[in-house]
Amino acid sequence: MPELSLIVPVYNEEENIPLLFDAIQKALAPLNQTWELILVDDGSRDGSAAALEKLYQQDPLHVRVIELRRNFGQTAAIAAGIDHARGNIIVLLDADLQNDPADIPNLLTKLNEGYDLVSGWRKNRKDNALTRNLPSHAANWLISAVTGVRLHDYGCTLKAYRRDALEGFKLYGEMHRFIPVFAHSVGARIAEIEVNHHPRRFGKAKYGLERTIKVLLDLFTVKFLLSYSSKPIYLFGGAGLALMFLGLADLLYLFIRRFWGIPAATSPLLVVGVMFAIMGFQSILMGLIAELLARTYHESQQKPTYTIRTILESK
Ligand code: UDP
Ligand code: MG
Repeated sequence: MPELSLIVPVYNEEENIPLLFDAIQKALAPLNQTWELILVDDGSRDGSAAALEKLYQQDPLHVRVIELRRNFGQTAAIAAGIDHARGNIIVLLDADLQNDPADIPNLLTKLNEGYDLVSGWRKNRKDNALTRNLPSHAANWLISAVTGVRLHDYGCTLKAYRRDALEGFKLYGEMHRFIPVFAHSVGARIAEIEVNHHPRRFGKAKYGLERTIKVLLDLFTVKFLLSYSSKPIYLFGGAGLALMFLGLADLLYLFIRRFWGIPAATSPLLVVGVMFAIMGFQSILMGLIAELLARTYHESQQKPTYTIRTILESK
């Protein structure tokens, strides 16, 4: 069993693969640790599959290649890698050499100071300023504000994890960037260090501005799952009660006004009041249905509503 598993998602990166392997070997040689490199070919259409096979022939003791049947996306490729990793420490990085394998020892040193997750921060990011860096800054700020997990660079793939910090949640959509948020919710200790970032030399970037929208939508899901998945009625019921209160107060106001001869039927406040009251009532009902779903969700997976770090007890 290797101690360290490096996981790299690969989509059309044929020129980068040999260079990446050299850089990884160079970075890990001075460390006194056993390692494996899991390369996940995410349905590449160039010569990546052949390049990966060549790498495997060259060093079958370190290299493992997982070939997906089609392009499932970076997050799915990472999830496949995590499912097959054997090490207790897992490091994720991109295949395009924008992340620098030379940073891996620093991440591991930090991890060994007693953290469960060390996040890379591309302080001098070398991507398009307008379409990538600016939206990314905004997204990082927003994610930190909404989740309370303060990191500068969620989008940086280069991060190191203890295996336990990755257990208990599945990754959907673009969600690998939210791993620190999930990990934080199960009590992981998180640190951040600056890492290098290089411009892409070979191949094309696979993303543009549209990714920011997906990330924003994912943030809604993540916030809901973290804060309300075990008590959805607090969200739906809270909103529902507020709406019902506003609606009923508004109707009461219209009712009282009638004693002074002001008709209620001609006021727009009538529609508003009725709508708020109905919407509020429905939101509470939705919250109750969500409560049933939450019970199915947790109990069908025997998913506890807590996580334990250690137990001290005599047998
Ligand atoms: N990638 C992947 N599947 C995809 C898109 C990208 O496995 O559908 C890989 C890609 O090969 C690279 C990493 O994910 O190793 C990051 O992709 P990219 O460099 O295009 O993203 P950026 O650095 O621009 O955020
Ligand atoms: Mg890249």
